[in-house]
Amino acid sequence: MLSPVEEIKARLDVVEVIQGYIRLHKAGINYKANCPFHGEKTASFFVSPTRQIWHCFGCARGGDVFKFVMEIEGNDFPEALRMLAGRAGVELKREDPSLRSERNRLYEVNEAAAHIFEEALKKMPGVHDYLEKRRVSPDTIVKFRIGFAPQSWEFLLKNLATRGFRADEAERAGLAIRSEQKGGYYDRFRSRIMFPIADGNGRTGRVLNSLFLVE
Ligand code: ZN
Repeated sequence: MLSPVEEIKARLDVVEVIQGYIRLHKAGINYKANCPFHGEKTASFFVSPTRQIWHCFGCARGGDVFKFVMEIEGNDFPEALRMLAGRAGVELKREDPSLRSERNRLYEVNEAAAHIFEEALKKMPGVHDYLEKRRVSPDTIVKFRIGFAPQSWEFLLKNLATRGFRADEAERAGLAIRSEQKGGYYDRFRSRIMFPIADGNGRTGRVLNSLFLVE
C-alpha cells in the first residue's frame, strides 16, 4: 500500500506544480527557469520530469515536489502535505497507532543502519580512496551520509542487535534476508557503498545499495 506521500507523488507532476508558481522553459528533457529562491539573470534552476525533482545549481536548493512547496510557501512538511494532498485528491486518514509505531520502528532501524554504515566507512581508508578517485569529495560523503557495508554476512545484524533491533525488524526494513533453508537471517548489503534515502521529514526512509565495490 502506498503511503499518502507516495500516493501524492504518483498523482502530481512536479513540473505542473512548479509551473503554478514560476514560468518554466523546456531545456532538452528538463525544464529550466530563473531560480525563485535566489537572484539571478541566467537560469540555473532545473526541473526533471523523469526524476520528478528540481535543483538549483546557483543556490544548491533542490528536492521533490514537497520540498518545493515548503520552500516557496514557507510551509513546514505537514502543511505542504495537506496542501498537496488536497490538490492530488488524496485523503489523509488518521493513521492506526499500531501502524504508525510499526512505521516509526522501521524508520528507526533504517536510521540506525545508515549510522552504522557511515561509521564503517570511516574505518575503511581504501573505500575513501575509491570514492575520491570517483570524485566523491569528503564533504559529499558527510552531506549525503554515504556509508559502507563491509563484506560480511552479519556485520549489520550484529551491530543492530547491540542497539536493540531484532533480525526480523531488519528484514522488514529490507536490510536483512531470511534464509529459508537455515531459518536464520543474513545481511542483504555486503561490500557495497551505501546511500541513505531521506523522506520529506528528513527521516531515513530506506537504505538503498548503490554500487558494488570493485576491487
Ligand atoms: Zn537558486
